[in-house]
Amino acid sequence: MKTQLELARDDLVSEEMRTVSNFEHIELEVIRTNVANGTVVIIGGSRHGSKPVGVGEGLTSKVNASIGTSTDIIDVGLEIKKAKAAEEGGADTLMELSVGGDLDMIRREIIAATSLPVGTVPLYQAFREATDRYGDPNKLTEELLFDVIERQCADGVAFMAIHCGINLYATERLKSQGYRFGGLVSKGGATMVGWMLANNSENPLYEKFDRVVEILKRYDTVLSLGNGLRAGAIADSLDRAQIQELIINCELAETARDMGCQVMVEGPGHVPLDEIETSIILEKKMSGGAPYYMLGPLVTDVGAGYDHITAAIGIASSSRYGADLLCYITPSEHLALPNVEDVIVGVKAAKVAAHAGDIVKLRGKIDKRDLDMSLARRDLDWEKQYSLALYGQDAREIRDSRSPKIDNHCTMCGNFCALEKANQYFL
Ligand code: SF4
Repeated sequence: MKTQLELARDDLVSEEMRTVSNFEHIELEVIRTNVANGTVVIIGGSRHGSKPVGVGEGLTSKVNASIGTSTDIIDVGLEIKKAKAAEEGGADTLMELSVGGDLDMIRREIIAATSLPVGTVPLYQAFREATDRYGDPNKLTEELLFDVIERQCADGVAFMAIHCGINLYATERLKSQGYRFGGLVSKGGATMVGWMLANNSENPLYEKFDRVVEILKRYDTVLSLGNGLRAGAIADSLDRAQIQELIINCELAETARDMGCQVMVEGPGHVPLDEIETSIILEKKMSGGAPYYMLGPLVTDVGAGYDHITAAIGIASSSRYGADLLCYITPSEHLALPNVEDVIVGVKAAKVAAHAGDIVKLRGKIDKRDLDMSLARRDLDWEKQYSLALYGQDAREIRDSRSPKIDNHCTMCGNFCALEKANQYFL
């Protein structure tokens, strides 16, 4: 069976392309062309038992929510609740990142519980199984690693973050620059670096990259080239190690695309506001326009407890400069495993931020909703405001909880409602 990329290259149009075209209000031929040239990927669809989601050039920015057990908190029911909360909150994709418990069972239950395309990081399970079997993650074998990737694809995983770009050369950059202020913050990245150094061997995901691509192609699982050396501190943003991995990932993106595999590239992490645009320009230019999946980014390191806000600022800026898929961050980032409330707050903050960026990125194409909201607000048309707000029910509940004496305005200014006053003279 052909991938969406191969179909598009053969001038064929799929149901998934049609769905994306309708959702984005973009001509089908434009979608097909961009899937064919790799600037758009379609994640999920009928082969994955999920809705298809378009990510890339000219499309609205999408938001990913990550869930999953830790080794300390293993509660499958809670993760299912979080998956459902993320979907209800408006997430476009879901990453299932469990490391504790029966990983095959948890993944299958999460995929069954949501209509969102589900992504994974197969290195987590590979290192977990190596630890279970041999008592040491560094004893992970190539065969086990590729078996886990194939097993996850066969379960219907729609996209996979795979750390192919961390090789010995990139790791050398980390040593030569004297490590980092924020250390290594990618679980998959740090463990793979440990594996390479302990075994004095090249990363098999880099060395046998063709094999990775062949497996993902068979299932049309989108390859997301993982950012294992991503900066986990704004002081480390754009350092040599991160850029080296980005260069390698962009080269690999070209190879995967040539082989007919849908591919995107992952970015950081922690990035100060003035480096976000640079990060996006570099990725787009070096990868030939592959969709960019940014993790956050967080724009300051001191927002603990409020990192959904530091990420929302980064997401708005990233979306504005052309990032395509943005990973949410929850208030418990850096502190604890998120609970259901954290997931809801994280998704909503990220969606609002992505929309703010899209107003600029897609100037003229999505502004009508904001304009209609302005008019409804001016006209004190509350029902219309609720219908246009990204989270209308939340807006309704806030107003209803503090009702005004006169229904027209709200309790913010009460009888001094500026709109009510000015409207008398101008409407
Ligand atoms: S009372 Fe104030 S905040 Fe509320 S609608 Fe009128 S002007 Fe706006």
